Amino acid sequence: MGRLAGKIALVTGGASVPGLGSSTAIRFAQEGAFVYVTDRDLAGAEKVAADIIAAGGQAAALSHDVTSEADWDTVMGAIDARHGRLDVLVNNAGIAVLSMLDDTSLDAWLHQNNVNLNSVFMGTKRAVEIMRRKGDDGKARGGSIIHISSVAGLIGVPGCSAYAASKGGVRLFSKVVAMEGATDGIRSNSVHPGMIATNIQDVALKDNAANYDATMALIPMGYMGAPEDIANMNLFLASDEARYITGAEFTVDGGMTA
Ligand code: NAD
Repeated sequence: MGRLAGKIALVTGGASVPGLGSSTAIRFAQEGAFVYVTDRDLAGAEKVAADIIAAGGQAAALSHDVTSEADWDTVMGAIDARHGRLDVLVNNAGIAVLSMLDDTSLDAWLHQNNVNLNSVFMGTKRAVEIMRRKGDDGKARGGSIIHISSVAGLIGVPGCSAYAASKGGVRLFSKVVAMEGATDGIRSNSVHPGMIATNIQDVALKDNAANYDATMALIPMGYMGAPEDIANMNLFLASDEARYITGAEFTVDGGMTA
């Protein structure tokens, strides 16, 4: 029996490979979950879902721009219609557009917060509605909501004002959801990756060797983490092994924030 056997999971931003979402979706499926891989890049999400199915897992891909309320309704409606439940939501989709405050426009600020924070509000609200529903025993089914924040949501990082505000917002939002959902068995936790080798880092550190070297110097372990390092943390939080853990925050950062 897998650690997520019988669970229905939704991972947003799951198209990117290597990416934290795709890695998490693959890991969840390996442990028996039926995984919905969603992304605004439908072709990418379909490829990840097809690979999961080819490996013997259960998955489906859906087109999903997390900034769109209509898309959230469609995605959650499709999952609800097919399964009547949702056990795990991973709010993973995100962007990192880094710039010093002087160079950050209001538009850039709003866009970043829209993708990284407002989306999390919309998705979590809908997930909680489904997770609160009562099962055959008359109790709310509950579930696990995992918010992918960042070390930039915990400590000050220059050049990250909009990104840090969005990720710090996610961190405290997670705690409120934990408080409000606790008696219904809804757990909510935030995960704070450090530097993990994915496309987002390629974009953030592109053509900037000095920035890259300076960033590596901040990591006590001296190297970037792998997407699987985050996927394994997400797996634990999604599983019943974490049944007494809610409102907590977990760094996975090679010691960056120690
Ligand atoms: P990535 O760029 O590889 O993947 C992000 C995915 O999100 C992509 O598939 C992209 O298409 C999708 N996406 C972006 N905007 C979207 C939207 N509006 N609607 C739906 N999908 C959208 O990045 P990643 O490294 O896998 O990052 C995943 C999450 O982890 C992000 O929230 C990021 O902020 C966070 N994070 C990453 C790192 C890191 O070092 N990689 C560190 C800290 C936090």
